[in-house]
This record gives sequence, structure tokens and C-alpha cells, in this order.
Amino acid sequence: FHGSIEVVCGPMFSGKTSELIRRVERAQIAKQRVQIFKPAIDTRYDAEGVVSHTSRSVKAEPVESAVDILIRLKDSTRVVAIDEVQFFDEAISTVVVKLAARGYRVICAGLDLDYRAQPFGPMPTLLAVADEVMKIHAICTVCGAPASRTQRLSKSKAQVLLGETDAYEARCRGHYQYDEAEE
Ligand code: ADP
Ligand code: MG
Repeated sequence: FHGSIEVVCGPMFSGKTSELIRRVERAQIAKQRVQIFKPAIDTRYDAEGVVSHTSRSVKAEPVESAVDILIRLKDSTRVVAIDEVQFFDEAISTVVVKLAARGYRVICAGLDLDYRAQPFGPMPTLLAVADEVMKIHAICTVCGAPASRTQRLSKSKAQVLLGETDAYEARCRGHYQYDEAEE
């Protein structure tokens, strides 16, 4: 019996969390024990839940670092789901590979790009080690085309700025604007 690594990626509002919840619910219907983790940094909406923009939610365990996932793992668990996986340190790919080797099905969801349209943290490595990658799109708020990028509306330069529709918008390649100051 062998495990697997699935990664769901795309910009904000593309439905990553909804897809993660869909897969989790189907695993639960199959009577497989699921543990859901998220980085403790993501306290948006809820300290203990994984919540989509459509307000669907499932219970999640907030963890401070990637290796904490290994420590928190229960014997009965078959499926490990991790949301906002881009916020973890580089060790997350090692952890996920280890879990798959031990026979777990691992489902990760995260932003492939940050607001500067640069690969987000551990995502390149995670996408490379995955067995299956799903790249999904949001809808461009300017023209309605499929959107692959996240536009930050505020002027903050921090890579991590937790926020909502007021801080970010999904944009297609054509309507995504690079920060003039960086060009
Ligand atoms: P993610 O986890 O990728 O941010 P969610 O699963 O939380 O995405 O939310 C996806 C939902 O967001 C969509 O089903 C839709 O109802 C809503 N939504 C809001 N703005 C947009 C947008 N610009 N494009 C697509 N969906 C959007
Ligand atoms: Mg999400």
C-alpha cells in the first residue's frame, strides 16, 4: 500500500480551499480518517478551521512548523490535508514526501505565486515532488477571463498580508499590474 501527494494550486479565490474540502469530504465518505492542518499564521476567519471564501469549513489543526505535522499525526489517520501550504517552511516538502512513503494520501492546497507573481516559498519544490498537480484559476475582476494571479490592492510590501477582497483581487495575465516601483 503506497501513499501519494496531490497539490492544488492557483491564485486567491480560485477555489483551492473548496477543492481541498471536497476531497476531504469524499475521503470521509469512504470512511478514511482525515487530519487537516494549516499554518498557525493563517488566523483569517477562524483559528481552528479551514474556511473557503464561500464560508464552507472543516476543522483544522493549526501548526507552527512543518515538522509539527509529523508530531501531531495519529495512528488511525489515512489522509493528511494541508491548506495554505505556501506559508510553511521549506521542510514541508520533506515532511510530505515522508508521509507519502509511510502510506498516507497527502492533499496540499496553496498559492503557487505571491502578489508579486513570484513562486511562493516551498511551492516549487512541492509541485515537483507531487504525483498529481491541479492548477486552477479564479475569474479576473477586470475582464472576467480566467485569472492566474493575485493583485494586491494595498501598498504594503510584506509577502504575507492576510486579507480579504479589500486587499487582493484575482487578475488575468493581461490585467495583472506589476508594482511600478520594482520595475
Ligand atoms: P481559495 O482557497 O483558492 O482562495 P476558495 O475555495 O476559498 O478559494 O473560494 C472560492 C470562491 O470564491 C468561489 O467559489 C467564488 O464563490 C468566490 N469568489 C470570489 N471572488 C472570485 C473571483 N474573482 N473569481 C472566482 N471566484 C471568486
Ligand atoms: Mg483558501
